Amino acid sequence: MSAPMHQFEADTGKILDIVINSLYSNKEIFLRELISNASDALDKRTYLSATDSALLAEDQLGITLAVNAKAKTLTISDNGIGLSHDDLISSLGTIARSGSKAFVEQLAQSADTSDKKSDDTLSLIGQFGVGFYSAFMVADKVEVLSLKAGETQAHLWSSDGVSGYDISPAEKPSAGTDITLYLKKDCKDFLEEQRIGYLVKKYSDHLSYPVMWQPVNVDDARQLNTGSAIWTRQKSDISDDDYTQFYRQIGAGYDEPFMTLHNRTEGALNYTSLLFIPSQRPMDLFNPDRKSRMQLYINKVFITDECEEFVPPWLRFVKGVIDTPDLDLNVSREMLQHNPAVVKIGKAVVKRILSELDKKKKKDFEAYQQFWEQFGIVLKEGLYEDIDNRDKLLGLCLFTSARTGAQISLQEYCDNMSETQDKIYFLSAESVAQAETSPHLEGYRARDIDVLLLTDPVDEFWVQAVGSFDEKPLTSISRGSQNLDDIAPKKDEADDQKSENQDEEFAPLIASLKSKLGEQVKDVRLSKTLVDSPACLVADDDGMDIQMERLMKAHNKDFVGMPRVLELNADHKLIQAISEKLAHDADPELVQDACLMLFDQAQILEGKSPDSLTEFARRMTRLMERGLAG
Ligand code: ADP
Ligand code: MG
Repeated sequence: MSAPMHQFEADTGKILDIVINSLYSNKEIFLRELISNASDALDKRTYLSATDSALLAEDQLGITLAVNAKAKTLTISDNGIGLSHDDLISSLGTIARSGSKAFVEQLAQSADTSDKKSDDTLSLIGQFGVGFYSAFMVADKVEVLSLKAGETQAHLWSSDGVSGYDISPAEKPSAGTDITLYLKKDCKDFLEEQRIGYLVKKYSDHLSYPVMWQPVNVDDARQLNTGSAIWTRQKSDISDDDYTQFYRQIGAGYDEPFMTLHNRTEGALNYTSLLFIPSQRPMDLFNPDRKSRMQLYINKVFITDECEEFVPPWLRFVKGVIDTPDLDLNVSREMLQHNPAVVKIGKAVVKRILSELDKKKKKDFEAYQQFWEQFGIVLKEGLYEDIDNRDKLLGLCLFTSARTGAQISLQEYCDNMSETQDKIYFLSAESVAQAETSPHLEGYRARDIDVLLLTDPVDEFWVQAVGSFDEKPLTSISRGSQNLDDIAPKKDEADDQKSENQDEEFAPLIASLKSKLGEQVKDVRLSKTLVDSPACLVADDDGMDIQMERLMKAHNKDFVGMPRVLELNADHKLIQAISEKLAHDADPELVQDACLMLFDQAQILEGKSPDSLTEFARRMTRLMERGLAG
């Protein structure tokens, strides 16, 4: 074989070498790249012929794919703008374009380091492609036959992708480009209509031009892509049903979308977004990777459906498409992460989603509540992960009010509290039902002070990170001791004297309990909040909430929690009876059982089982015997 007339530029050779020899995994993207180039060429012709009618095409603009089974070739044809002799040299013989240049630079960097890293780099290129050169992944010879619109002489460019290329004058009846790939031995599957059809659907389904399959019999031509990307159409031309169909098509869900956000932004940032919030939790909502997955298109060409750069993990339930011309098709995943356009689009998209949710909350609270029930738990992750959006997110949060059972916002809680109250009280529990029966609530109920019931594991984390709302500290009622009398007197009494006497009266019981329970409790004291229950456990001021402790245990079974403070209800008959027995030194076994039982019970009310269930059952039996048989 004679040497080619033209040599590739140095860097071009380097890219070709890597593309051809190292990219095995994702060869199929060559088709996306070539179809995207064809689509660009059609765009250019459309644009230029608007002012120069000499450039108008005779036929409908489109892309055609044809194979020759004998010659083992695949040809991608377009009737776009075409390439002149000089275009062929400058476009296909160099890598002056920014994406490819950056790619080479990145490659040079990773070549210096470990093999592992360069492997990674290669898989990245595999995902994002390197434009025209990707043809050489599947072909050992490529021919480009092109006639530029408005010119008369066509040219044939050809190359084996190794050292250089040839250009010679050729015949072509109408403007446009035919790219013929002489497929490599192991790439014969690209001759199959089914395989090609699948790839066109996958990558090029939403191009505005038809992609036709042209079999030997011309009459059997068929269109492989759907065409007309829904997000590029006018909102007014799209029905709810169209949106829902698309929502299902992209696998966002099988329900009806709860919210559809379709926007076009032009100016400093250019992008179109079509986003959906599902009505139901998707299956992968609690996957440990917590990745958001958005579809990224660049000018209607599919790039990836796993773009995590636009929305943060706490919005991972939002699904949809972002299409922007502001990125280069060759952008690698690493570049995507730090790309300023991506960052800006992401910020704008997040802002939009939050403000639409806020609008919905104000306009249709009932529907919003349903959304919150499904996704509030995920949204709340943003409270500790995204300080910039924290205030907006706090505004979107709903909690069950212990007073009314209704879902209320932090603002509503604050609006409804008395002037003497300066804290936001909350109780963490596993469920609303468990919280509602908690002894911790009794004193608040008796004083008509509202408490927010927090039942999601994530609550433990954001509460700590956020600390306060509207300058009011978020305060756990199962921790430390709260002096509620300063806020409101108990409805049925106002006996100041009593509490001092009680301290004296119950001192022996407290001392006895301390010695019986030993290390199991941090302290024993009289409660200021209990009303109906005889006893409860609270965490120390600087201790860990019981819910938090449970979470820690779930992650690490060796985790040992801190002992709690046992609080006694001095007004409770049971406590008074035990205290009396103790004072008269009567029935020491019974007193012993009763004291331990108080502690067992308090543990159970916190959702913890007693340390020894056998001992617990025995004590219970003895006490029942006394009550029933004695
Ligand atoms: P990019 O598309 O990012 O510019 P490519 O490597 O895919 O990079 O293509 C290089 C250039 O070759 C294009 O910018 C374009 O000028 C030219 N080109 C490729 N394919 C065609 C085509 N089918 N018709 C006209 N020009 C083309
Ligand atoms: Mg291209």
